[in-house]
Amino acid sequence: MKVLKFGGTSVGSPERMMQVADIIAGVQGKKIVVLSAVSGTTNTLVSISDYSANDQKKEAEKVAKELHLSYHQFIKRLFSDQHYIDENIAFVDQKFQDIKNLITEEFSEQVAKMFVAQGELISTHLFTQYLTSIGKSAVLLPALDFMTLDDFAEPDLKTTRTKLEHQLAAVDQNVIITQGYIARNAAGGTDNLRRGGSDYSATIIGAVLNAEEVQIWTDIDGMHNNDPRVVQPTHPLANLSFEEASELAYFGAKVLHPHCIIPAQMHEVPVRIKNTMDPKAHGTLISAEKDTQSAIKAIAAKDHITAIKVKSNRMVMAYGFLKRVFEVFEKYRTPIDMITTSEIAVSLTIDNDEHLRQIKQEIAQYATVEIDKDQTIICIVGDLIAERKGVGSAIFEALDDIPIRMISYGGSRNNISLLVPQEYKKDSLIKLHKALFT
Ligand code: ADP
Ligand code: ASP
Ligand code: MG
Repeated sequence: MKVLKFGGTSVGSPERMMQVADIIAGVQGKKIVVLSAVSGTTNTLVSISDYSANDQKKEAEKVAKELHLSYHQFIKRLFSDQHYIDENIAFVDQKFQDIKNLITEEFSEQVAKMFVAQGELISTHLFTQYLTSIGKSAVLLPALDFMTLDDFAEPDLKTTRTKLEHQLAAVDQNVIITQGYIARNAAGGTDNLRRGGSDYSATIIGAVLNAEEVQIWTDIDGMHNNDPRVVQPTHPLANLSFEEASELAYFGAKVLHPHCIIPAQMHEVPVRIKNTMDPKAHGTLISAEKDTQSAIKAIAAKDHITAIKVKSNRMVMAYGFLKRVFEVFEKYRTPIDMITTSEIAVSLTIDNDEHLRQIKQEIAQYATVEIDKDQTIICIVGDLIAERKGVGSAIFEALDDIPIRMISYGGSRNNISLLVPQEYKKDSLIKLHKALFT
């Protein structure tokens, strides 16, 4: 069993969907095909949801109508048989009637989740119908029937496995289509794995079924050694260890969802990143294998980071001080990414600032708190990176005119992280790239 995930661009037009059908046909054996929404759809659904939240119902309806009409065009180009055109137009008309009903409903978090779920529900229906229309046998397995979240909105792998195995027992077809991104939460409502979550859906499915391999088909030929949107030229990496890929995904390499390597690593399921636009390209193979040849593999950057400096009100950081600080973050379920300490202070960074106000208020009862928003973590990833001679000096020499706010060195064998103000991100990535890769 293989799991093949196709991202938004890969299913972004009727022609691309046809190409996806060809790629699937070239993969032997049973496969679960995880699809994202057609590119742009989730963003549009988010804006419909935001308009609804602000009580701008007319604007929400206008945007929904444009999206609705774009699907009519999509369907007319995807199918040649009038019968399929009529049936699929009736399907999207119903979906957009549902969206219209959601707009008129009183807005809630649950309604927001329902809006953004529609993209994957539409793309998977159209694609399954397309396969049927060209005489290929396929079945659509609704993700909401098996993909399950726990009380903390994290994937519940055990329940997901039980439900998925149960569903699969009744399936004969070799091609099983399902939605990425969407999931059922602990309260039974429609939910999701957060933006870019289809990668995570694929690796969760791969892990619970002990799949042979998970393939992430996207619009680029693998994980590159730097962010191709910022630095040119970058090049794809043929191999990465789970640890390296996990660090890169978590610290901003958008090609993978930040958490998607975790389930694959836990169950040792290799993940291959492939390019839908260039299927022959090797791509990147992520596995337990470690390539010990090159010290530095890649650089990634994560924006919108908040730095928090906590200064003890006493002259020295008393025994137990750090514990008190960390307990506040634990209470508000806010992960800390970077941390550095001095005799009287500790600096740390968070990505999720939802509870920043409460965190600040609680710590301020016994310490001074300073907050810097809009920071970027630059993460340099490789094997035994902090243990190799010369790596540190090369990094700091390259960034000698960049104000580095924090450094994390030696915490992991795979990464060195630096915190810089967001406006220095581009410059830092370019300078590091030049110094470390050319
Ligand atoms: P999909 O819709 O297939 O999930 P995404 O847009 O989420 O695709 O991810 C692919 C994009 O990630 C690429 O087009 C590229 O611009 C961006 N990206 C950022 N960092 C990297 C990197 N290190 N390697 C490859 N792609 C990257
Ligand atoms: N459609 C969702 C998003 O745009 C999930 C995904 O594409 O991975 O975030
Ligand atoms: Mg993505």
